[in-house]
Amino acid sequence: MDFVVIMFGLVIGSFLNVCIYRIPRGESVAFPGSRCPYCGARLKGVDLIPLISFFLLKGRCRYCGQPISWRYPVVEMLSACLIWLLYRYYGITFTWAYYALMVCILIVVSFIDLSYQEIPNGLVLALMAAGLAAKAAGIGIGFVDGLYGMLVGGAPLALIAVISVLALRREGMGGGDIKLMVAIGWCLGWRLTAVALVLSVYIGGMVSLMLLGLKVKSREDYIPYGPFIALSTVISMIWGESMLYWYVNTFWG
Ligand SMILES: [Zn+2]
Repeated sequence: MDFVVIMFGLVIGSFLNVCIYRIPRGESVAFPGSRCPYCGARLKGVDLIPLISFFLLKGRCRYCGQPISWRYPVVEMLSACLIWLLYRYYGITFTWAYYALMVCILIVVSFIDLSYQEIPNGLVLALMAAGLAAKAAGIGIGFVDGLYGMLVGGAPLALIAVISVLALRREGMGGGDIKLMVAIGWCLGWRLTAVALVLSVYIGGMVSLMLLGLKVKSREDYIPYGPFIALSTVISMIWGESMLYWYVNTFWG
């Protein structure tokens, strides 16, 4: 079964690549079929096998020889790994399907934020809709918990945004990040959202310091926060409850 889930994850990842490429360009993700972005050649079945095509073609377009972005195999592997990891924790259940869908949306959000420094509203709405559908079907957390989650997710980031504009006179937190965190709160409830938020501050802070230290980025550069939110959310989905349990036992036990 692991093999089937990993294959499924790779195919999903391949579709997410299409989303990452087309959503910021305002193109349909369903139609037409995939083309090479350089020469426009229509890609055939054998060019579209996730991961394998990339290595068979040595990372270049079969028709024009232009390099294919590293993003394609990375997104495919990442999707497969995370969908498989969630399967190990939840089995083939509705909860697994729900969390896998959330992870897919978060992967698309992250890579679009990395390239364009923006989080499309449509993806935030998709996350909200997934959360609503799950609640209507009785999957995951309840309605009230979702509302608390929105507050726990959104309020601290909104506060940071206001403070950084007032005190530092620069935009420390984008509106897209706040909306994303609100949607995550709605989907995960206040407990896991609180874990995700704290993790995102730590991970985002550490990585930003590293990037500044290594002079990859300067203080004036924009470092997107969306990927840190997404990563922290995935960690919280899988290990959040154990982390809370450990934390409460260690400090309040
Ligand atoms: Zn080409």
